[in-house]
Amino acid sequence: MPSEVSADSLQTPAPKLIDRFGRHIDYIRLSVTDRCDFRCVYCMAEDMNFLPRAKVLTLEEMAAVGRAFAELGVRKIRLTGGEPLVRRDVMTLVRELGALAQLRELVITTNGSQLERYAAELKAAGVRRLNISLDSLRPERFRRITRTGDLEVVLRGIRAAQAAGFERTKLNAVVLKHRNHDEVVDLVRFACDEGLDLSFIEEMPLGVIGDHDRAEAYYSSDDIRRDLAGHFDLIPTTEQTGGPSKYYRVGGSASRIGFISPHSHNFCGDCNRVRVSAEGQLLLCLGQEHSVDLRHVLRAHPGDPERLKQAIVEAMHIKPKGHDFNLKAQPVILRHMNMTGG
Ligand code: SAM
Ligand code: SF4
Repeated sequence: MPSEVSADSLQTPAPKLIDRFGRHIDYIRLSVTDRCDFRCVYCMAEDMNFLPRAKVLTLEEMAAVGRAFAELGVRKIRLTGGEPLVRRDVMTLVRELGALAQLRELVITTNGSQLERYAAELKAAGVRRLNISLDSLRPERFRRITRTGDLEVVLRGIRAAQAAGFERTKLNAVVLKHRNHDEVVDLVRFACDEGLDLSFIEEMPLGVIGDHDRAEAYYSSDDIRRDLAGHFDLIPTTEQTGGPSKYYRVGGSASRIGFISPHSHNFCGDCNRVRVSAEGQLLLCLGQEHSVDLRHVLRAHPGDPERLKQAIVEAMHIKPKGHDFNLKAQPVILRHMNMTGG
């Protein structure tokens, strides 16, 4: 037995957010805005009503939320939306969060439309990695899926991210049957050529979208893997990036291909994350309504981080065990993905 107690053993352990099922929450996705310059067919309806400004958290309030989570042991924050980079003055929030000593990673999910302008600034502000959505490499098709997007602008954004020195940038592609399922090989080839990772995502039934029948458009991760098998050597890995993707390495390339499969391979058992919507709802599960109104706490007790932290700690008790998505039924979750923060 050591006769002296080491300084380390006297230190209070870092706080941890643990839910009822013993899952350790160390990752938050913070939706910076519900607005977007695209109207992707799986994410939004064509006519969307966005939140009035007074309901959206100010950038200062969002920074307070990020700080509170970091002090409670969260190590990774993903900024998302809506399109995070269309929020005015978003860089003030990015800089504030980028300077949080407790964080291991500040990352962003973006549609890429503003990256030409922002990539270098994001890198300088401490953003570690980018996820960029890219569902098609064909301009017409890209426009049909995003309704308003310009593929060339997004490709320039991807190049700007590479030039700014971002590494392990990941593309996200939602795959829909008869829309882009025949492009999965081209997308993997593009990712390998550009030195990017790529995740394929099964569409989730969030909000009424009016564009297509989600059950008919369903194209599973297994279908995609089968399509890729004749073209690439996919080597399973146990690599994790802290999210729900299951990864494969592509033989002869540095790229990793991930599959986010909420339907075919449920990932709730090792869920380590919660979301905060642009209006300050702490959403405890993407596929359930359990939530806590952090905006109320922030505005009822301004400048009181302890009240905010208490509300967050208590919220862990209502994190549900998992989602129960059903593509064949009407969406139970009426929130669109832009509200949820994908
Ligand atoms: N606007 C940014 C973007 O598109 O990357 C960030 C927000 S977006 C909601 C985040 C991710 O969610 C994107 O990769 C998008 O493709 C995905 N997404 C949106 N709606 C979805 C749905 N219904 N099912 C599955 N993924 C969805
Ligand atoms: Fe906008 Fe992203 Fe939703 Fe597309 S997926 S409409 S880019 S928020």
